[in-house]
Amino acid sequence: MLYRDQIERAAALIKQSTGFYSLTGAGLSTESGIPDFRTPGEGIWEKFDPIETSSVEVLKNNPRVFYESAFNRFASITMAEPNPGHYALARMEEMGLLKGLVTQNIDGLHVKAGSHKIWEVHGHLRSGYCQGCKKRYPFEELVQQVELKRIPPVCRNCFDVLRPDVVLFGDPMPPIFYEAEDTLRNNCDLMLAAGSSLVVYPVAYLPRLAKKLIIVNLRPTEYDHAAEVVIREKCSKVLDDLAEMLATG
Ligand code: NAD
Repeated sequence: MLYRDQIERAAALIKQSTGFYSLTGAGLSTESGIPDFRTPGEGIWEKFDPIETSSVEVLKNNPRVFYESAFNRFASITMAEPNPGHYALARMEEMGLLKGLVTQNIDGLHVKAGSHKIWEVHGHLRSGYCQGCKKRYPFEELVQQVELKRIPPVCRNCFDVLRPDVVLFGDPMPPIFYEAEDTLRNNCDLMLAAGSSLVVYPVAYLPRLAKKLIIVNLRPTEYDHAAEVVIREKCSKVLDDLAEMLATG
């Protein structure tokens, strides 16, 4: 199918749908300057194993390693800005078409772009909390302590180690994941999966809850065979063209 026909087909499916949701992954934010995990030659996984630096085990047993590696990567992500793909999804929600979006990304770019109904199922970088007394802190507090070389940063109340509000390897999924799963199971007749390799479980199980799928990804995914439309182009272009077609077509 030609690119234009793919966009028209995707737009027609969205217009017919009564329960249209999106699932987004790290590939949506590569065009905002944040590397994904698995793009060959550029993905984070090729540079280091995130499990060795971003796991609950490391945070517990060697918090300095966590703060000197994974945390610096997290902190640099907070500078990123949304790209046309994030804005296009916010526009689809504004048009009343997109009922909600589930994201694996911790970068907060959907919030910055103006989306409202979002499940950030791997957490975000707006806040953190004390592992001991659970007192909450803005993410900036963690950054400031690290900049002042207080590594690891600690709680002002009980002096236990602080951690960001992200789901680390070895953490259980947060309650909002199950809320998103329930909503999709009961309402989703169409899912647009954008910029995800769809291999990180349990999130990679969510496309099974949709009756129909549209996939936007530069490389093949496990779900391509089950999708109505597969578009192998950059997310920002595809989502922007799609929003434009939905607004005018
Ligand atoms: P992934 O790295 O496994 O897959 C990303 C996919 O996006 C790849 O298949 C790649 O080919 C594709 N891609 C890259 N750039 C693209 C573009 N411009 N347009 C279209 N496709 C593009 O990412 P994942 O499936 O989200 O899983 C990675 C895990 O790592 C997630 O759990 C996520 O929480 C975390 N992560 C998050 C960020 C972030 O917050 N931005 C960044 C890296 C990793």
